[in-house]
Formats: sequence, C-alpha cells, structure tokens
Amino acid sequence: MDQYVVFGNPITQSKSPFIHTLFARQTAQDMVYHAEQPDRDGFTVAADRFFAQGGRGCNITAPFKEEAFQYAQQLTERARLAGAVNTLKKLDDGVILGDNTDGEGLVQDLLQHQVPLKGKRILLVGAGGAARGVILPLLAQQPAEVVVANRTEAKAQQLAALFSSYGTIASQAIDELDGLTFDIIINSTSAGLSGQLPSLPHSLISSQVTCYDMVYSTQTTTFNQWAKDLGAHRTLDGLGMLVGQAAESFMLWRGLRPSAKQVQRELRLQLQL
Ligand code: NDP
Repeated sequence: MDQYVVFGNPITQSKSPFIHTLFARQTAQDMVYHAEQPDRDGFTVAADRFFAQGGRGCNITAPFKEEAFQYAQQLTERARLAGAVNTLKKLDDGVILGDNTDGEGLVQDLLQHQVPLKGKRILLVGAGGAARGVILPLLAQQPAEVVVANRTEAKAQQLAALFSSYGTIASQAIDELDGLTFDIIINSTSAGLSGQLPSLPHSLISSQVTCYDMVYSTQTTTFNQWAKDLGAHRTLDGLGMLVGQAAESFMLWRGLRPSAKQVQRELRLQLQL
C-alpha cells in the first residue's frame, strides 16, 4: 500500500491524517497516511528514512517547512517563491519534488465560497511565511491589487518587492491604511493564536468587505469577531484553506482531485466548528 506521512513538531493536533484518509476513501485510493513527529533537529533523518522505506510523499508543517525546502531536489515555482515547502513527492525517477500548496488551498477555498478574486482589491495583513506562500497564487487570479501590510513594515516591503514582477502588488504601513478600501482582507498574522488583533483601522470594514482569517478555532476567531462586530459582509476561517492545501497535495501525489467541500463539512462536524 502506498505510504504518505505528515511531519511536524508538535503533530498530535494535526488534522491531515483525518483529511487524507477521507480523500483516499472518497477516491478509492489504496494508500495509508499517518503523522510523525521528528525531533526538532531530526527532519532530514526522518525524511530520508521514510523515502528509503518506499514512502511516496509527505506533508510538512511547522517547524520544518524551510528545511523541507532545502531537502527538495527540485522545486515548483510557487514553492521557490514561497521559500518553503509543505509537500514532497518522490517522482518516478527518484527525484524528490518540493511544492507549496498553501496558497492554492486558500485561493480554492475563497473561490468555493463564491468570493471572486479577479479585479478585486486584496489587503494581506502579515508578512510571515504564510503570507509569502499565498501571494503568487493570489496574483495568478489577477486581482486589481494586492496590498501587504505588516506590524514590521520592512517585511511587507520586502514581500512586495519579491513579487513585483508577478502582478500588481504594493506594501502599505499599517497606520496609513485608514481611508483605503478593499474587497477582501486576509489576516495571515499569528496574532489570533494569542487572542490578539493586528492593529487595523475600523474604517477598513464595511458591508462590502469579505474577511478571511487563516487561523481557525472552535469559537469565531478574534479577527473575524472584530470584523463581524464592525459589520463585514462575510467572514471565513482558515479551516477551508487547511483542507484546500491538502486537496492540492493529494492531487500532486495521486493525480485526482478530491472534493474538499465534502471533507471540510465532515471535519467541521468532527471538530464541532
Ligand atoms: P510567522 O511567524 O512566519 O509570521 C507571523 C506574522 O504574524 C508576522 O507577520 C508577524 O508580524 C505577525 N504577528 C504576530 N503577532 C502579531 C500581533 N500581535 N500583531 C500584529 N501582527 C502580528 O507565521 P506564519 O506566517 O507561518 O503563520 C501565520 C498564521 O497563519 C499562523 O497562525 C498559522 O497557524 C496560520 N496558517 C494557517 C494555514 C491554514 O492552512 N489555515 C496555513 C499556514 C499558516 P511581525 O513580522 O511584525 O512579527
């Protein structure tokens, strides 16, 4: 049976085995998918062992995405620009291909929720690894503009410069966002993990704007609650992105597109979200 794994540390909370097991069942694939927690300095040894034992592909989550980027022998363009890899696949000639499916997972989730991106103004809050991973897939949808704003402004400027030849992208200081309008605001900061909010002006929220928080939780996330209270048109959390990135990995490994929508429904039921 074909073997797949997700590497992370910690890994006990990972939803990936649940998601991929449902994908495999849905598409009648003969495969198993489990979770493994290498030591913090043990990713390369664990990945070497996995592939030497016939493993076909793996997902990689924190803190190993940059190491997986180094580990890959070949990279997709989106992984190269993301500077991080969340999916590895052993190709038929034995070469290990690295991909990053996070951004496409986000895009597919937005489109599935009928949030159009083409011609839209998108504010991307945060400039960490998650932000960097989603910019190329967002630009590929031909938005009017992607504006990156981050607490540490220099990082937003660096991201805007890195992607400037791939579409219309700019950076903006957080304290200069007041008065600007966007169709979609994506929170890619980790502020919500500690119940905090990036300090955004209230004027960004109107009844026209869709807000997306990459974080998800059993309660409405801090950012989405803030946006709801101010009357946002719609709020979405990052569970759909999680399932979406998994679907893209599955597609890369198996050549089949599973139904992310069905699995997202089952995962929400299981997590009581
Ligand atoms: P990083 O550590 O690389 O970046 C964190 C970002 O959050 C930086 O831009 C940082 O700003 C900002 N930030 C942190 N705390 C605050 C705060 N209190 N106020 C304002 N900004 C803050 O993390 P990642 O980019 O890898 O991950 C970000 C989030 O995205 C995580 O919560 C992660 O769980 C989520 N994620 C979700 C995925 C999904 O599938 N749903 C996939 C990938 C990530 P500064 O530069 O100033 O420090």
